[in-house]
Amino acid sequence: MKIYIVADMEGISGVVTPEQTSGSSSYFEAARFQYTREVKAVCEAALESGAEEIYINDFHGNGLNIMPEKMPKEAMVIRGTFRPCSGFDLLDKTFSGLILLGVHVRSATSKGVIPHTYTQKISYEIFGQPVGEFDLLSLIAGECNVPTILISGDSLAIEQARTNLPSTHMVITKFPVGNESALCIHPDRVIEQLKEETRRAVKAIRTIEPPQIAPPTQLVIKLNDVSITPRIEWIPGLKKTGENTYEYLGQSMKEIANIVYGTATLAECKF
Ligand SMILES: [Zn+2]
Repeated sequence: MKIYIVADMEGISGVVTPEQTSGSSSYFEAARFQYTREVKAVCEAALESGAEEIYINDFHGNGLNIMPEKMPKEAMVIRGTFRPCSGFDLLDKTFSGLILLGVHVRSATSKGVIPHTYTQKISYEIFGQPVGEFDLLSLIAGECNVPTILISGDSLAIEQARTNLPSTHMVITKFPVGNESALCIHPDRVIEQLKEETRRAVKAIRTIEPPQIAPPTQLVIKLNDVSITPRIEWIPGLKKTGENTYEYLGQSMKEIANIVYGTATLAECKF
């Protein structure tokens, strides 16, 4: 059994501000240590429950956050900066389950820790429903017939994820107080819960349905920052549907994800 883990940093226990998620500060080093512990705990519990091979996608920032030497030997880490796709490199139908660790709320969520969908400058919807990174990744996996078996993150991110993934196992790491503050559960307690829920999720893997959408899929792109309008209009195939909104029809979730990643990358690009 092969398991694919996408690990992000914003949703792990104790992380509440961007200062903790990059740079060379002691805050980042401490957050990176806990991030590594949480990924390791999930790998160990998955291996104990029957997984034989694990791919870990170090999804956050420059992709150099996990300490690979701390991982079990059965796990391999996809790491490094600027990859061809946004978190699903090498994910295909040979995997039995997807685990999304440390997720965060979608762009333009008024509460929740560090809200964004690859960028804060754009919000995305699929058929009128807001989508975040966890929605897109679970739909891409669904397209490969791979169920999302476990998600961890703050309580609001978990609330958002539950809507589209009712049978996915969930672990709450903290309760948001503001966009950069939260009531945090003890890191050791989070590790225990992650292990427990991973074991349950792997055992129940065949009962968890992969989310799927029949194409063509309608993506709506809403600009929260109008200064990026000219560069978004460089992309062919986007139909302007309002002052700050565009529509794209995709034939697959990977195509939709590429448009999301492409527009978000352009939005963040410094000229
Ligand atoms: Zn991140």
